[in-house]
Amino acid sequence: MIQTPRELVLIGNPVEHSLSPVMQRAALDAADIPVSYTALHVEHSEVATVLDEIRQRGLAGNVTIPYKRVFFESCDSISPLAARIGAINTFWMQGDRLCGDNTDIGGFDSATRQLLQDGIENLNITLLGAGGSAAAVVAALSSWPGSKITVWNRSLPGLNQLKQDFDTISVEMHLPNAVMDADLVVNATPVGLDGISTPIDISLLPKNAAIIDLVYGPNSTPLIREAKAKGHLAADGTGMLVEQGALAFRRWFGINPDKEVMWRAIMKEQQIRRSRTG
Ligand code: NAP
Repeated sequence: MIQTPRELVLIGNPVEHSLSPVMQRAALDAADIPVSYTALHVEHSEVATVLDEIRQRGLAGNVTIPYKRVFFESCDSISPLAARIGAINTFWMQGDRLCGDNTDIGGFDSATRQLLQDGIENLNITLLGAGGSAAAVVAALSSWPGSKITVWNRSLPGLNQLKQDFDTISVEMHLPNAVMDADLVVNATPVGLDGISTPIDISLLPKNAAIIDLVYGPNSTPLIREAKAKGHLAADGTGMLVEQGALAFRRWFGINPDKEVMWRAIMKEQQIRRSRTG
């Protein structure tokens, strides 16, 4: 039985840039659920105290960089998907048990299926990055029929770890080789967060390659702007943000939120941020 949380929190460092509070508050208002959602900037030295408070006060919420692994290790019960990648982004209390899931996996899956209009069979997929969200992407893609996944990363340790966790992937450190035959390219590095940089020269990609960037920003991302200008099917991380947030909401309250409302709240906030930065 679902135990309705008394308050929702987002735990991370940094958390100030996150759009989750704006998006989830809009969903809570639309569903007439009088529960707050607060972003908490937590230092490493404070994590144990925060975990105690979550248990004592029956809180639920999200966790982001750099604590997804720490929360995974602190949960009493973990979904099989989260266990597959050793990281959680959503938690809640069930009696006195802290439960965790990773909705980035389902969020990426839904958003990317929508971009590709469910044309997901037998694709060559190139993933840029080998961190936490890259593992979520590989976990999602592993269920797509006939997919061949090539992972590029700037350094070896992350690449080796991902290969150890998912032995079906191929790894490649030469970027042009990694994307040469790609039907779909996924950026799971933070490159583009600055609004200026791109993780790859678009001209290296096959003409028909679709592109999904996990990064999002007030003006989308440089990668997605360039890709669209060159006629590629492309989307930034906003769709994934909404989908993972909707799955988390369902975990907390047992009902689907209004995704349209969540999307509109993000667009409005992005507009405010754009006007602030000129
Ligand atoms: P992470 O665990 O820190 O991994 C970052 C990855 O990017 C690593 O492979 C790292 O390589 C690589 N990298 C970092 N800086 C780079 C650079 N300057 N050039 C090339 N590669 C670089 O981070 P994460 O959790 O996977 O998150 C990655 C991005 O996805 C973040 O921007 C995050 O905001 C975004 N994200 C979006 C959503 C969404 O809902 N849209 C969800 C989750 C994450 P090394 O191994 O060499 O360090």
